[in-house]
Amino acid sequence: MAKKDTNGYCSFCGRSDKDVNMLISGMSADICDSCAEQAYQIVKESVEAKKTSLGIDKTQLPDPKKIKEYLDGYIIGQENAKRYLSVAVYNHYKRILQGKEDDIEIEKSNIIMVGPTGTGKTLLARTIAKLLHVPFAIVDATVLTEAGYVGEDIESILTRLLQASDYDVAAAERGIVFIDEIDKIARKSDNPSITRDVSGEGVQQGLLKLLEGSIVNVPPQGGRKHPDQKMIAVDTKNILFVCGGAFDGIERKIAQRLNTMVVGYASSKNNAQVDRNNLLQYVAPQDLKSFGLIPEIIGRLPILTYLDALDRSALRRILTEPKNSIIKQYVKLFKMDGVDLTFEDDVYEYIVDKAVEYKLGARGLRSIVETIMMDAMFNIPSSKQAQLHVTKEYAVEQLENSQVVKLRNSL
Ligand code: ADP
Repeated sequence: MAKKDTNGYCSFCGRSDKDVNMLISGMSADICDSCAEQAYQIVKESVEAKKTSLGIDKTQLPDPKKIKEYLDGYIIGQENAKRYLSVAVYNHYKRILQGKEDDIEIEKSNIIMVGPTGTGKTLLARTIAKLLHVPFAIVDATVLTEAGYVGEDIESILTRLLQASDYDVAAAERGIVFIDEIDKIARKSDNPSITRDVSGEGVQQGLLKLLEGSIVNVPPQGGRKHPDQKMIAVDTKNILFVCGGAFDGIERKIAQRLNTMVVGYASSKNNAQVDRNNLLQYVAPQDLKSFGLIPEIIGRLPILTYLDALDRSALRRILTEPKNSIIKQYVKLFKMDGVDLTFEDDVYEYIVDKAVEYKLGARGLRSIVETIMMDAMFNIPSSKQAQLHVTKEYAVEQLENSQVVKLRNSL
C-alpha cells in the first residue's frame, strides 16, 4: 500500500516502503505510518504534560484584569496588592509558557508583601494558587535555620510543595510557595560578623539559592538530611515565591528615608503630599534593607507591594461579602441541617465592634461568630427547628455568657 511518489524509504526509521503500510512524502523527507503515529504520541504527551503541570495553556491564562476580578471575589480592599499580584502572576506564567524563539529571557518575578498581620497576605497567595490550579505550600520563615542547627533546613520548603503536589515533581516545579514572616529572618545587627546569626542572615543566604532558581535536592519526607534518604531533585526556576511579613516598625525607616529625601532634593510641595498616616504605601526596597534583609534577597523579590490595615468598614465587608465569607459558611452549615439561618444587620456591627475592641482583626471575626453560634450549633441538629434568626440581643447574650476572656487570651 505504499504511496508511489516517495524516495522509497522512511526518513525516520529507514524502512523501505515495502516494509510499511504507508509512506507519506514531504518536501524532502518521507515518513512511514508507524513513525507518524509515534510522532503524534510524542506531541500529544508533551502538550498534556504542559497542561497538567500548569493546568492551563497560553490561551487559558487569565489576563491581569481577570485575575484581579477573581481576587476581588475573595479579598476585600488591598487594591494595590491585588493589582501588583495580578500582573506579577500573569507575567510569571507568561514566562513559563514562553517559547525559545529568541534570546530574550523573561526574568522571574517573585513577590514580597509588607503589611500588618491578618490583613490578607496568605489569603491572596492561596487564592491565586486556587485560580491557577497549581500546588501551593505555606511555610513559616521562623522555623527555618541554617543547616546543622535546630530547626528546619531550607529545603523543607520544597518538601511541603512536593507533598502538596502528591510528589508530582513537574507540578511542584510550577507551584507557588508562600513564605510567611519573612521579616523574622532579618539581620539582627548591622555587624553580622560578631556572632553567628543562625536564624537570620544565614537563612537568608540559604533562601537565596531557592529564590534565584537552582536544582535543589529535597528530602521527600522532610526533616534532616541523612545519607540513606533518597533525595528528589527539584528545579526551582519556575516556582513562584511570594513572601509576606508584618515588618513591625518599618514605618520609621520609611519616614526616615522620606525626611532625608526632603532635605536632599524634594520640594516642600512634594513633602506636603506625604500621607503620614499611611506610610506603608511608600515602602521601597531600601526600607527592607534598613530593616535587615540582605540586598541579594531584596533583588530576588522584585515585586514589592503593601497591604493596608483593616478598618471597621473593611472588617464589616469581610464578614459578609467574600465568596466564602464567614457568614456564608455558617448559613451553609445550617442549611445542611435544613435550617434557614438569617442575621439581623445589627449583629454584624456588633461582631465588628467586638473584633475591634479585642484588637483581633479579621482573624477574630471567625472566633466571635463561632462563639455566638455555638449553642445553636449544638442544639439545632437534634431539634425540628427550621429557622434561626439571630438578633443582636441573642448575639450579645451568647458572647457575654461565653468565656470571652478565654477567647481573648487564646488569640
Ligand atoms: P496574613 O497572612 O496577612 O497574616 P491572612 O491572609 O492569614 O493574614 O488573614 C487571616 C484571615 O482573615 C483570612 O483567612 C481571612 O479570613 C481574613 N482576612 C484577612 N484579610 C482579609 C481581606 N482583605 N479580605 C477578606 N478576608 C480577609
